[in-house]
Amino acid sequence: MVSSAGMLKDIGDKLCLVVAKAAGTTSTNDPDVRLCTLLLAVDEGIQLWGADGRKLYANPATLNQFGAVADVADGGFEALAAVCLGLDGTPIQPADFPVARVLANGEPCADVLLQLRVPGAANRWLRVSAKPMSFGGENGVISSTVDVTQLIEREISLERQAHYDALTRLPNRVLLADRMKQAIAHSKRTGETLAVCLMDLDGFKPVNDTLGHKAGDQLLQEIARRLEETIRADDTAARIGGDEFTLLLGGLKSPQQAEQVLQRVLDAIAMPCAIAGQAVRVTASIGVTLFPGDVADGDQLMRHADQAMYKAKEAGKSRYHMFNPAIESRIRANQGLLRRIEDALDKGQFALHYQPKVDCRTGTVVGMEALVRWQHPVLGLRSPGEFLPLIEHDDIIVRLGEWVINEALRQMAEWRGAGIDLAVSVNVSARQFLRGGFDARLAEMLSAHLPGLERRLELELVETAALEDIAAVRTVMAHYQKLGMRFSLDDFGTGYSSLVHLKRLAVDVLKVDQTFVRDMLDDPGDLAIVQGVIGLASAFGQKVVAEGVESIEQILLLLELGCDIMQGYGIARPMPAERVPGWLAGFQADPRWRLARSQYPMRSDFELLLMEVSHRHWLERTRVAMQQSGELPAPGYDSCRFTQWYAEAGIRRYGGLTEFREIDMIHRKVHKQAEALATFIRAGDLAGAESARMALESANEEMLQQLHSFRVGLAGTIH
Ligand code: C2E
Ligand code: MG
Ligand code: MG
Repeated sequence: MVSSAGMLKDIGDKLCLVVAKAAGTTSTNDPDVRLCTLLLAVDEGIQLWGADGRKLYANPATLNQFGAVADVADGGFEALAAVCLGLDGTPIQPADFPVARVLANGEPCADVLLQLRVPGAANRWLRVSAKPMSFGGENGVISSTVDVTQLIEREISLERQAHYDALTRLPNRVLLADRMKQAIAHSKRTGETLAVCLMDLDGFKPVNDTLGHKAGDQLLQEIARRLEETIRADDTAARIGGDEFTLLLGGLKSPQQAEQVLQRVLDAIAMPCAIAGQAVRVTASIGVTLFPGDVADGDQLMRHADQAMYKAKEAGKSRYHMFNPAIESRIRANQGLLRRIEDALDKGQFALHYQPKVDCRTGTVVGMEALVRWQHPVLGLRSPGEFLPLIEHDDIIVRLGEWVINEALRQMAEWRGAGIDLAVSVNVSARQFLRGGFDARLAEMLSAHLPGLERRLELELVETAALEDIAAVRTVMAHYQKLGMRFSLDDFGTGYSSLVHLKRLAVDVLKVDQTFVRDMLDDPGDLAIVQGVIGLASAFGQKVVAEGVESIEQILLLLELGCDIMQGYGIARPMPAERVPGWLAGFQADPRWRLARSQYPMRSDFELLLMEVSHRHWLERTRVAMQQSGELPAPGYDSCRFTQWYAEAGIRRYGGLTEFREIDMIHRKVHKQAEALATFIRAGDLAGAESARMALESANEEMLQQLHSFRVGLAGTIH
């Protein structure tokens, strides 16, 4: 009996014999030969292996595929494995060869794609399958090898068409998208910077037009070659359309590194190319954005690079421009706001509120200031501080400004119809005023409304804006002043007007900025400014208006200083137009305003006032220091500014008056309490400190009253 170990070998031997016979005969009567013509005819390599991995049989197709290596008599499968490469083109381990895998685990192993090394020719592609085979209790392996080179090449070429640009052989948009994903993922993993660059050739179209498309194609191929040469192998250069390319530069340690590569690219592109017998030169404009600094997905990164590319073109071409996410997001937010404001204008969501200006000396309303409001459907009433600063450099502010003037004129005419003749001031932005044609637009607007309103209209210009182009402002102003219109300098004191400016500008009104008014009772510096502005206005024959007046003390002080016209929450808040008639009807001068009516100070009295404020300032600092447990200002009588003034100018001027000397007595008391307070605080005696503080407050109150009545008394004697 034939041992089972020999059975498979027998089959193999038999096959060898029969196949040899079939190959050498034309007889078709022999059934063996008929069977074997099949084995001879198939293109598929078929191999039979013993349990020890030795070859028992390989059909002729195997020999065709593998050549001499397959023919080694009694050779093992290792001979075949040795000439095979994996998908990636690297040699495979013999244990990975399908026959070995079946021998190792007894499982079939189908459709393994391998490359076959062919000396002196291109590699071929094989699909290898193997499965266990058992015959009469004897185990072996049967395997097949199919040459799929054509199939794979077709696939590769289809793949190429789908992923590569036919002209330049660079990746196309599809592959770029894939590479982009990988590059972003890589950058996220490593923390390294990825530069996404969009490049457009400058001057490509003329080449195409004058030298023809063929020359254009050659140029593009040359550019592609240079791009690939300039960037690293890991980076991507893709052609995404006509003369547009994208570069993905990964693994960057700094933006400077990206800039270096880009400069090299620009230089490489700008080198002349020999095309159609001519030296052709083009340049490139490149827009760049850096991930992850620019937090965006692939599509957004491309859009940002595209925006930057247009900037590079605008800036003169042949350069790169870096996208700046911070600036762009601000611009985008602004553009969103600009659109919303335009929309709000179209939908009539803006309104004017009116704030009265009152002459507190005569107790009469002298006019209203129109202040714009945005009646936002969701957010409610928005004040100009929330939207004007964001649009003041855009033309939308001009449109809004014109709406404001038109609306104010319309409202004035309506009030006139109701028997209310009010002067109205509107705020005008610098851009609106200084843009060519404001003159003509204003004339048009005036002519569209009731005639004569110009004599009741006042334009408020912010001081800094008016200084931008004094000559232009002056021309417009002079023209309309002749028609009776008035001009004021708003927020006066916050800009840098010199006396020369003030003289040249020749406005009708100065509006003292509200910050000075707010603090003038506590800050001698602010008081001096307010007084200075009032003095200037009177020297130049201008009216002065104080804005932001909130308290009766401020009103009285301003009246004392000679500023009669005031505006502020202390008189009335800005109100919608429909509330104005009612407010006017109910308006009554505050009787307390009369207190100051006869008290016009002389310069000497101003010093007294200044000292009073200086004293308040010292006390206020003491209070704040106590609250914040900080350093108390010097509590001593001798270190006080009031003391110094009192001892010199004060005594010289008012020394003969008992009331004045009484002030000094109380002033000393104030400082004694302050010193006591400081001692208690140093000793950590809280109860003592509190009682000293109360004594200080009451001494202080006494002193201020004494000062005030002394001043009032003085005024009485002078007038
Ligand atoms: P402004 O022209 O100096 O107007 C005075 C601002 O102070 C107004 O703020 C007013 O409501 C506020 N105000 C009035 N009295 C007091 C007060 O006693 N205390 C305090 N704390 N504030 C007071 P508003 O309406 O928010 O306007 C702010 C600025 O926006 C205006 O300052 C003006 O420069 C500008 N503005 C307002 N409307 C327009 C406009 O139609 N066009 C232009 N270009 N600018 C405008
Ligand atoms: Mg104003
Ligand atoms: Mg103002």
